[in-house]
Amino acid sequence: MVLEAAGRPLRPAELPIPEPGSNEVLLRIHACAVCRTDLHIVDGEVTQPKLPLVLGHQIVATVDAAGAGVQTPRVGERVGVPWLGSTDGTCRYCRSAHENLCDRAQFTGYHRDGGFAEFMVADARFCFPLPEGYPDLQAAPLLCAGLIGFRSLRMTGDAERLGIYGFGSAAHIITQVARHQGRRVFAFTRAGDTQSQAFATELGAEWAGPSDARPPEELDAAIIFAPAGELVPAALRASAKGGVVVCGGIHMSDIPSFPYEILWGERVVRSVANLTRQDGLEFLALAPKVPVRTRVEAFALAEANEALQRVRGGSLQGSSVVTPTP
Ligand SMILES: [Zn+2]
Ligand SMILES: [Zn+2]
Repeated sequence: MVLEAAGRPLRPAELPIPEPGSNEVLLRIHACAVCRTDLHIVDGEVTQPKLPLVLGHQIVATVDAAGAGVQTPRVGERVGVPWLGSTDGTCRYCRSAHENLCDRAQFTGYHRDGGFAEFMVADARFCFPLPEGYPDLQAAPLLCAGLIGFRSLRMTGDAERLGIYGFGSAAHIITQVARHQGRRVFAFTRAGDTQSQAFATELGAEWAGPSDARPPEELDAAIIFAPAGELVPAALRASAKGGVVVCGGIHMSDIPSFPYEILWGERVVRSVANLTRQDGLEFLALAPKVPVRTRVEAFALAEANEALQRVRGGSLQGSSVVTPTP
């Protein structure tokens, strides 16, 4: 399913099976979960994709063939492919354990063709082994919603009272991790979205309400997954002194100006960008211990546009996943 230009629906296309180059593997794709970032690319809000492009960066696949120099993964092994598709390995960020900020990073389903397909090639050094016990469809959302959500959660430090704004794919995973770590979760959704509020409490949130509401207690930290800039001052207002507000998405509407008073008291606003491979290894080791259970809605590959729209609507409880083998 190919994106030819921003603002257009994906189009079905017959493409040649790609050849793995050196350090690359050819992958047979089983499932690819949809991320909010995919919508930002389709909508032209994240503006530098290669075109035409195969979207998708939460990929579960089996290695079909390996190019020169590949030691692992082996042919036949099941792997996950995340958003971070490759780095230069040499810039000041890569050399200081910040490869997520690499100046020349290539992202899957953005600079490189991704997972809304039957086959793809990936840099073998950026593929993850996947925990046993997760079927393909349920494993797929771990690869961005889980990974970036986990990095966002880590940026909240040891916050006990955690607010989560936007209760979609990432939130449904990270609520489970936060509860496992003994944190208390307060979920914020669009006003009137009582279904998502009920879903949040089912997963362990002790309070759920509309995003403009004050929670029953001050928050020690908040993660904003929804791409709405007005949530930043809302989350600051809900935060205690020293609280951290983490913006977990790649794109957000403009943040309205706000009085310094709500930032005062050593409150912090920060973003989270991409992931490191270390994040991936740590999260994929932790997920089965929680255990994280993902809730997915499956779509055939030919229905990728519907799968995207399902995420846009905001009414989805859990993750939308595309599979070429429904
Ligand atoms: Zn993503
Ligand atoms: Zn680099």
